[in-house]
Amino acid sequence: MAWQSSGKTNAELIANMVRHRLIVSDAVADAMRKVDRAKYVLHKAVAYEDTPQSIGYDATISAPHMHAHALSLLEPYLHEGARVLDVGSGSGYLTAALHHLVGPTGTVFAIEHIPELVEWSVANLRADGLGGALDSGAITVIARDGRLGYSSKAPYDAIHVGAAAPRMPYALVDQLACPGRMIIPVGTHTQTFTQVDKDKDGKVTTKDLFGVMYVPLTDQPTAK
Ligand code: SAH
Repeated sequence: MAWQSSGKTNAELIANMVRHRLIVSDAVADAMRKVDRAKYVLHKAVAYEDTPQSIGYDATISAPHMHAHALSLLEPYLHEGARVLDVGSGSGYLTAALHHLVGPTGTVFAIEHIPELVEWSVANLRADGLGGALDSGAITVIARDGRLGYSSKAPYDAIHVGAAAPRMPYALVDQLACPGRMIIPVGTHTQTFTQVDKDKDGKVTTKDLFGVMYVPLTDQPTAK
């Protein structure tokens, strides 16, 4: 199913994912159509294949259908003006899509611990037409350990974690708004895409969704 969604252009990739019902929301389709995946990958010739791709530094840009899943799960919390945290933002692809969903009055904080990837993702976002959003503060990319979240800007209506945590990081749960939702891969050998919901009274519920394979959240590698 995933492979069958590959396209020759970004528009074709999204259209195929809609056709295969990997995207069922118009808002998610619109947001993903606005993000040109070729701007966020190293191997441009295969930018529109529905597969993950290495972006160096042991990091991977997720497959488009995984980005679609994450955005669909978070969408109920991605209203205009919402505040979002994207942990392990890597290429910047999902940061861009999240920005399109929350609009210019929303704020997306992207956290990535490899400084070179922070720099590259900012260049990717600018090349994809999001220089204005970076300059206005609608998108901020920060180099730090994402396991701690970014408490000074909390709470967040939605938190996306793009790398697997060995166990639930409660620092991130604490930074969810009431209500708010976090989507996070949890586990080591086997990982589960997990949805954490905080209701308006602050009550937290956790739902295991399905098995996934993400790179782990790690300590920052020491310089080689
Ligand atoms: N959503 C991104 C996923 C990139 S892969 C994309 O599709 O491009 C996961 C990212 O998490 C990598 O870039 C990796 O460097 C980063 N990462 C791993 N551990 C981290 C940590 N402790 N803090 C912040 N980022 C981390």
